[in-house]
Amino acid sequence: MIDLQRASGAMSTWAAAGVDFLFPPRCAGCGRAGQRICAHCAQLVTPTPATICERCGRVQSARVQQCSQCADGTDFPLYCVRAAALHISPLREWIHLLKYEGRRDLGILLARYLTAALAAPDWAAVCAQLDGVIPAPLHAERLRERGYNQAELLAVGLCRQTGLPLHTDLLRREKLTRSQVGLNAAERKANVEAAFVAAPACRGLRLLLIDDVYTTGATLRACAHALLDAGATQVSALTLALPTHIDPSMTHDLSHS
Ligand SMILES: [Zn+2]
Ligand SMILES: [Zn+2]
Repeated sequence: MIDLQRASGAMSTWAAAGVDFLFPPRCAGCGRAGQRICAHCAQLVTPTPATICERCGRVQSARVQQCSQCADGTDFPLYCVRAAALHISPLREWIHLLKYEGRRDLGILLARYLTAALAAPDWAAVCAQLDGVIPAPLHAERLRERGYNQAELLAVGLCRQTGLPLHTDLLRREKLTRSQVGLNAAERKANVEAAFVAAPACRGLRLLLIDDVYTTGATLRACAHALLDAGATQVSALTLALPTHIDPSMTHDLSHS
């Protein structure tokens, strides 16, 4: 009897190899044939500067333990947040391809920037204690439209590269929120409030949320609230990209979806 699972696994491996053979990959940056992201373009990604607030991860004029917004006690349930790189070309275009153009293959490739960010010395203490990684969830309906969750692809890549456990069943997005694009901080907060439900199994865990872009932080904060309410001990977040210009009325309300 044919083992269907193994057979389909072998076929998809064969198909992937065949597609690469018939259509050699081209760099998502410069279009040169050979790699999906060539070494030259990979080096054009700009890491987030060191002059950040160590808590919220926002760029400051100098590195600080707490920026003025973190210090004033604004609602910020995350233990710490970091973005791997600036949301500028070519990373901005690659994230667009990943999210809106069906380029799911870029997810694992772009995860290398998350892995590099996690290796930074100031994350060592956080990472040594992590119990697992959670991708920011998409609502089931949006997942059906897109076919995949880009944050999950990034998290899969990160977990493969670091050996950290991946948890895709601890957090669910129950409420279908409208796109965060064009919404101000208050509107984003209201849009994602109570959208997430965490499983009791996250009790006692120290978790790292993964998302693609750290815009106002509304999504990450809503995820963190749900996990902490369900008993998680600590929730941090790491995103791939940090926008360089954020409307001042939106500051401290940092991410999207
Ligand atoms: Zn290139
Ligand atoms: Zn801060």
